Amino acid sequence: MEASTTPKSPRAEKGVKGTSDKRSDQDFIFGKLIGEGSFSSVYLAKDIHNDQEYAVKVCIKNHIRKEKKVEHIIREKDVMNILNGKQNPKAPFFVKLSYAFQSREYLYFVMTYCKNGELLNLIQKVGNFDKECSRFYAAEITRALEHLHSLNIIHRDLKPENILLDENMHIKITDFGCAKILTKEEVEKVNDGRERKSSFVGTAQYVSPELLESKTCGKASDLWALGCILYQMVSGLPPFRSKSEYFIYQKILKLEYEFPEGFYEDAKDVVQKLLVIKPEERLGASDSEGYPSIRAHKLFVDLDLDSLHEMTPPKIAPHLAPTEDEIQWDKVNQPGLNSLELVLELGLDLKGDKSKAENAKPSASEAPKKPGKKNIADVSTEDYILRLAEQEKENKWHRFTEGNLILKQGLMDKRKGLFPRRRMFLLTTGPHLYYVDPVNMVLKGQIPWSHSISTEAKNFKTFFVHTPHRTYYLEEPNCHALDWCKAIEEVKKHYYPDTTT
Ligand code: ATP
Repeated sequence: MEASTTPKSPRAEKGVKGTSDKRSDQDFIFGKLIGEGSFSSVYLAKDIHNDQEYAVKVCIKNHIRKEKKVEHIIREKDVMNILNGKQNPKAPFFVKLSYAFQSREYLYFVMTYCKNGELLNLIQKVGNFDKECSRFYAAEITRALEHLHSLNIIHRDLKPENILLDENMHIKITDFGCAKILTKEEVEKVNDGRERKSSFVGTAQYVSPELLESKTCGKASDLWALGCILYQMVSGLPPFRSKSEYFIYQKILKLEYEFPEGFYEDAKDVVQKLLVIKPEERLGASDSEGYPSIRAHKLFVDLDLDSLHEMTPPKIAPHLAPTEDEIQWDKVNQPGLNSLELVLELGLDLKGDKSKAENAKPSASEAPKKPGKKNIADVSTEDYILRLAEQEKENKWHRFTEGNLILKQGLMDKRKGLFPRRRMFLLTTGPHLYYVDPVNMVLKGQIPWSHSISTEAKNFKTFFVHTPHRTYYLEEPNCHALDWCKAIEEVKKHYYPDTTT
């Protein structure tokens, strides 16, 4: 990847045809770097004339020529210009190109700034989406595709990285560099089922089987991608996964994917009807105008796809697997520790059965301690040395702790959406919360500590660890979730004593 471009160049020479007004780099104050692509850097910038914020994509001309991306850039600009000229007020779901200009060295694309980043990051942060969120965003993508396809444009690289979220959490589709603007002749061919030959292959996980098999690509290829994205919103991961692209392609061609437990039925039905090998048999593929057959699916019942843009998107919330989440309080088999007592004592935030915890104030970190109950992180120097020496000798997990003392350890399922992965968790001094793959004995990562880390127990088995960039969804198989919350809160109190929760 090229080092960051710095948008400090001689005054731009000319505006680019098709944009509304002339501007140059002198008309903007450039702020932070938002992100980098393989041949561009995107900056937050402010228009000095009206204070309007934009995302400005800056590309080095030489680099684009060298990388043979000229066509890609031209296509991106052309598609955005078409979208600018043919806006649909009921489908304002595209990043808008407000200005394009160039200097001797650089190309500048001044676009809608999408404050809330990529849909992918959001899915990864929360794990997966609940039904309301998944269907809302699937509906916005469907509505966007209706408009895009009505203009005879195929996106061809639709994926959660290319779906951005604006300040109101509505989608804005971007990255039209791989798009195809169908000619009149091609439109006729597509309508006759004779789709266009293409040498292009999009991103492995979302690429349609027809592109892989016969190098053809039509509007239904975007519908395939919609099926993959809906699957990912509900479950947390895309349907076709493997270590190598080759194996992903094999799985796509064999339609080899599974629904994890907890994948709700209506969404499953839509995914099954979109992930169909023959493009013409996909839900919506035979609709002549818009996608009425997708709109009519029961997943979208009571959702008016023409007023999505006026709605407040549902609050992003993860979908929890019902099997693990709906533990009956009365039937909880408590091995050893009295966790209910802990609930009452600590006031952990137990969603799902608030009534059982109604006496449970104040919060964990403020909880009055019973005399003699020591914070697990309060270890005397002498004790520390002894315990660490013992750990080094006898604990096979010691090698993952970077020399820190383990305060609590245990196997838990770390969920990525609906997919659980068994991990050994090691809460240590430092503080650190490491997790290790116990089968391959590999350190997989650690939950980052900061003063804002917090826990939220959902029930005896399940709890969240909230960090600024991600919520970790953990399941303690033996119903000791509350012990973990307590331990983490104690360590937090020890290392960040001034933090209130
Ligand atoms: P590549 O060019 O390699 O395919 P890319 O498409 O992600 O990568 P860019 O379009 O240059 O490359 O985007 C770089 C980063 O900037 C991405 O992380 C993207 O999310 C972010 N970004 C791009 N456009 C916007 C925007 N309009 N608002 C907010 N962030 C944006």
